[in-house]
Amino acid sequence: MRHGFLRSLPSRGALVVASLATALVAHAAFVDEYKSGIPWAEPVVVDPGPVGGPPSDARQLFDGKSLNQWQGGEKWEIRDGYAIPRETGITTKDSFGDVQLHLEWASPEKVEGEGQGRGNSGVYLMGRYEVQILDSFKNQTYFDGQAGSLYKQTPPMVNACRKPGEWQSYDILFTAPRMDPQGKVTTPAFITVLHNGVVVQNHFELKGGTFYERPPAYDNPHPATGPIQLQFHGNPVKFRNIWIREMKPAPLTK
Ligand code: MG
Repeated sequence: MRHGFLRSLPSRGALVVASLATALVAHAAFVDEYKSGIPWAEPVVVDPGPVGGPPSDARQLFDGKSLNQWQGGEKWEIRDGYAIPRETGITTKDSFGDVQLHLEWASPEKVEGEGQGRGNSGVYLMGRYEVQILDSFKNQTYFDGQAGSLYKQTPPMVNACRKPGEWQSYDILFTAPRMDPQGKVTTPAFITVLHNGVVVQNHFELKGGTFYERPPAYDNPHPATGPIQLQFHGNPVKFRNIWIREMKPAPLTK
């Protein structure tokens, strides 16, 4: 009898929650809501598409069939929905500034070479800033030259590389550098990279172009946009599903 009576009483925790909820409702009734007053326009609706994209507003740079948007694309081999570097690097015919870039790559299944000689390619933003592509699965090299590094500027935060032959993804957010009319950098370039969904670069401030034989430096003056480039480094790395979206700030009403 006594136990039944105790069970019917609300617990102390429930009472606290109930009084907090009452207090919040009372508070909302007497306090003005903060509004920024910024005349935001309604964001455009985008269909994100399947996992890995492309979203409905993306531009497909390689759909597995044709590299006709790339200078030099006719030199590369296209087979079974993927492309393999041959003879030369390839460069988009169009130029881009602030972008989201998605690409998928696989290092050769048959492991050959070591260090920088194993599954080496690279993706360049604005034709200048290389995110390294390398088979970094149990393959030692200098750390600021392994997969996901900004070549010779910083290693990736972690090594998220898959095994040779397995498809991998890069999702890159790139903010182009800004320069004044004299070519002086007013805001450097920034880059964020997800490798197989794992953040390996977080808003990294680029010190300039990425070079093999000299320290990073910005070209001055610098065009506002530049092409995407895929590196030829003599290794049969595979590429597929490459798409790009220009990034623009949330719009305001006019
Ligand atoms: Mg490379």
